[in-house]
Amino acid sequence: MLTTGRADADHFHEECGVFGIHGHPDAAALTALGLHALQHRGQEAAGIVAYDGSQFNAHRGPGLVGDNFSSRDVIDRLPGTVAIGHVRYATTGEVAQRNIQPLFADFEFGGLAICHNGNLTNSYQLRRQLVRRGSLFQSTSDTEVIVHLIATSLKDTVVDRLTDALRQVEGAYSLVRPLVLGRLADAWIVTSETCALDIIGAEFVRDVEPGEIVIIGAGGVRSVRPFADTPPRLCVFEYIYFARPDSVVEGHSVYEARKRIGRELAREAPVEADIVVPVPDSGVPAALGYAAESGLPFELGIIRNHYVGRTFIEPTDQIRHLGVRLKHNANRADLEGKRVILVDDSIVRGTTSTKIVEMVRNAGAREVHMRISSPPTRFPCFYGIATPSRDQLLAARFDLEQMARFIGVDSLAFISTDGLYRAMGEAGRDKLAPRFCDACFTGDYPIPLADADDGKVSVQLSLLADTA
Ligand code: SF4
Repeated sequence: MLTTGRADADHFHEECGVFGIHGHPDAAALTALGLHALQHRGQEAAGIVAYDGSQFNAHRGPGLVGDNFSSRDVIDRLPGTVAIGHVRYATTGEVAQRNIQPLFADFEFGGLAICHNGNLTNSYQLRRQLVRRGSLFQSTSDTEVIVHLIATSLKDTVVDRLTDALRQVEGAYSLVRPLVLGRLADAWIVTSETCALDIIGAEFVRDVEPGEIVIIGAGGVRSVRPFADTPPRLCVFEYIYFARPDSVVEGHSVYEARKRIGRELAREAPVEADIVVPVPDSGVPAALGYAAESGLPFELGIIRNHYVGRTFIEPTDQIRHLGVRLKHNANRADLEGKRVILVDDSIVRGTTSTKIVEMVRNAGAREVHMRISSPPTRFPCFYGIATPSRDQLLAARFDLEQMARFIGVDSLAFISTDGLYRAMGEAGRDKLAPRFCDACFTGDYPIPLADADDGKVSVQLSLLADTA
């Protein structure tokens, strides 16, 4: 099942980040830095596998990148010029040591380390078939399904085996997830976001295309495109919330996209007020756009405490209940007597929004209007994002007026789906061929949900480093 009850349980959660580098003497150290930049994509576990030309060495552990890779000793135990790494936010397979990626396997053609970002939507079905044919699984992560498909493929070359395996999986990366190619002197890098290139001073080369396999070896980079052309359907939530604002995704600056969404929201849902206040940090760029378009002052009416430890607020429901106060505090000097427009990126269960609104009212706000820079999230995600089940999504349970009452605001508005597409430079949502995956708003799932239809909910794909 998709996991839900987390410290920040009122947001959709990105599930993983990947980083791979080929051709650098400090491969493991640079991978650790890259993972550090991708920490927002997963905080439950981190791992690196490096290859020194004769053998693979791995270090994996629960917790943050800094918890696992801040000591020189650990990095020294990962020699070699090739490395891949992973940060994980588990959605499939429990959080256990055996599920922490990258996974490593010995094949007849050599060793192979693999990690990926996204969900396979037919992994349970494939796993069942593989177990029937004698495969022994070491983990409950569906990444291992890809490993077994490669192992049992009858093709000759590594790339053909991989292609064969990928033809059988259905799901995330190739249609909805980001991956970019970068370069640092003679080294090549593949990673989830451009911010992981920036941290090591690497240059962005290009986005990896849907259906493309990038092969990096001694001869440089080459690509094969063995799969039928499919139109890209990137997860639109990358622009709304998941990606770091300083990343560039498919040629769009995430920060600028968020500001444009805020402007569009101000045009669609204006309201008389005194100040525009972001729910930090995720609501900041959209609130800047909203304020600019509406001509109202942008004020930091809520201050976020950046030093609250995750482990401190995670353990119990009661502590989780306290979470918002621990993380945010209302700035009374700015809010008292004001008509406030609060801007946030999404409402999932509505629990966090309710507490924030209460806090803003307690600080003396005269009116509180909420504006949300995504359409209402009415459907769960099956492609690698941790979401609650449908009956827990506020927008699936209530209409707009009921939601406003639940949260306790004077007015509530979400950006429309067409408005979101306009902010992304489209004329609106093309119903026959939408440019993005927007299934959690529209219920129009671009990839078949084999496991979900089968009563199972599943998961994942993306970076595979073959160093055999
Ligand atoms: S369903 Fe929503 S969160 Fe999931 S990939 Fe599609 S747009 Fe992104």
